[in-house]
Amino acid sequence: MTPSPETCKRLTEYLGECWHEPIGTRVSEWHGPLTKCSCGMVECPKVNLLFSTSADLFTVYGKMVERGEWLEFIDWIDETQDIPLEQNGDGHAWLFCLAAPDQIGERMEMASAWLKERGK
Ligand SMILES: [Zn+2]
Repeated sequence: MTPSPETCKRLTEYLGECWHEPIGTRVSEWHGPLTKCSCGMVECPKVNLLFSTSADLFTVYGKMVERGEWLEFIDWIDETQDIPLEQNGDGHAWLFCLAAPDQIGERMEMASAWLKERGK
């Protein structure tokens, strides 16, 4: 499962990075119509994170730790998710997709839902 664009945008902004998407066109006398990016650049070469790798997962979780929000996130999972953390040992293997890398997108949707719920 690949996270939705909405989730990718929310997580990108949570990481404090710019989300890149075309927001209009600027006509240049020399180059003709050029695409303007939401980050402010014209003909922006940057690509957005897709939040589909273990590295992305660790980056998002790491940001929660850095901001002191990790335990709040864990409590939220415990209260809202159908998968008890007692399963798979202490739940870390499940949370970090250690045995199921194909579920990284689902964990990222979960992180996004948590952010959305708390209005961030
Ligand atoms: Zn950009």
